[in-house]
Amino acid sequence: MTHDGSGFFDRISARTAENYPSDIHKLFASAGIPGIISFAGGAPHLGELPFDELAEWAGDILTGQGGLALQYSAAQGLPVLRESIVSVMRMEGIEAEPDDVVVTAGSQLGLDLVTKTLVDPGDVIIAEAPSYAGGLGVLASYQADIRTANCDADGVIPAEVDELITAAEGEGKPVKFVYTIPSFQNPSNTTLTEERRAELVEICRRHDVLIVEDNPYGLLSFDGVANRAMKADNPDGVLYLGSFSKIFGPGLRVGWMVAPRELQDVLVVGNEITMLNAPTFNQLLIARYLSDFDWQGKLGQMRELYRHKSRCMLESLERHMPPGTTWNEPDGGFYIWVTVPEGVNTDQLAYDCVPRGVTFVPGTAFYRAGGDRQMRLSYCLATPDQIETGIAAIGTVLTEHLAG
Ligand code: PMP
Repeated sequence: MTHDGSGFFDRISARTAENYPSDIHKLFASAGIPGIISFAGGAPHLGELPFDELAEWAGDILTGQGGLALQYSAAQGLPVLRESIVSVMRMEGIEAEPDDVVVTAGSQLGLDLVTKTLVDPGDVIIAEAPSYAGGLGVLASYQADIRTANCDADGVIPAEVDELITAAEGEGKPVKFVYTIPSFQNPSNTTLTEERRAELVEICRRHDVLIVEDNPYGLLSFDGVANRAMKADNPDGVLYLGSFSKIFGPGLRVGWMVAPRELQDVLVVGNEITMLNAPTFNQLLIARYLSDFDWQGKLGQMRELYRHKSRCMLESLERHMPPGTTWNEPDGGFYIWVTVPEGVNTDQLAYDCVPRGVTFVPGTAFYRAGGDRQMRLSYCLATPDQIETGIAAIGTVLTEHLAG
């Protein structure tokens, strides 16, 4: 950790010192270099959103409901939006009431709130290996004792979760929750099978451990069929985190959670303590998008676009990756997870790709330890031409690394 010369730097909390930006953040920053082809972010393609209608609705909201839109509002979220959220979740089999929903400023804040509410320093959390870098960052910032269960092609391995819970219990440290991204996981794009969902629910029920189901990509299956959420089959044992970031746009910062009933009040108070309320105007605008627009039709077009881009990236990978490189074939979501041949370090590869005009996130960002032969490539934002150029550049640098 470097000192920036300010006398106050020594006074940052132990908690904050743990998540002081690592070098990986510099790579994320490289995505902003003008002209660079970025496979780094999880930023959705927004070009097809109905901007004219959104501008009209925004105007209507300000002229007709300005006093509400620009005012503080209920910490739980606006009823009009919570009603729409209930119908969004029904697509994944969740039967909830508007009163069960707590609106947050994105699911990142939702996870922060859940962790802050449940975790004392040293408490055990089980996460997936690999897992969402931003999620691991939240858990670390509350000084959780993060233990990880591996994923294979079918998602997280339930037997490993069971073993980790049993081991923690043996140490007298009950697990506070299991953090999982079951559909089109970030970063590996694996989807937990139906059998494994049932197994995980059963294991957690047996040990009386809460599941935190983080599901921003659940409605982005290329075949349009949503996976049944674990929350649907075990409403009392699962806390569900939802988001409009990937199915609409992240800029409005609106997400939600549905918790087991006994946690609801404490989470609403927590929301109030952290941010008073999620942005009122943004909630109204999203509610309008959901009620006045064929958003499901739009989502269908987006899924088709992402399917197409993923196929372009797969074809480019076939053309340009040296032998011994492997990757998954997405059937939804935003990411391709690549493993490079032995002897190549993807942190170094990522640095060397920046001057060649392309950036991605190396695997180490998604593990507590390890991941140095993996990389996450996002196909969501780049154009097909950029995908071909960028993958060709990565292939060239990778081949150079292999040649030593
Ligand atoms: N969870 C996962 C798995 C994500 O991939 C992301 C965003 N990349 C988030 C949470 C945060 O989403 P939001 O924009 O709703 O805060």
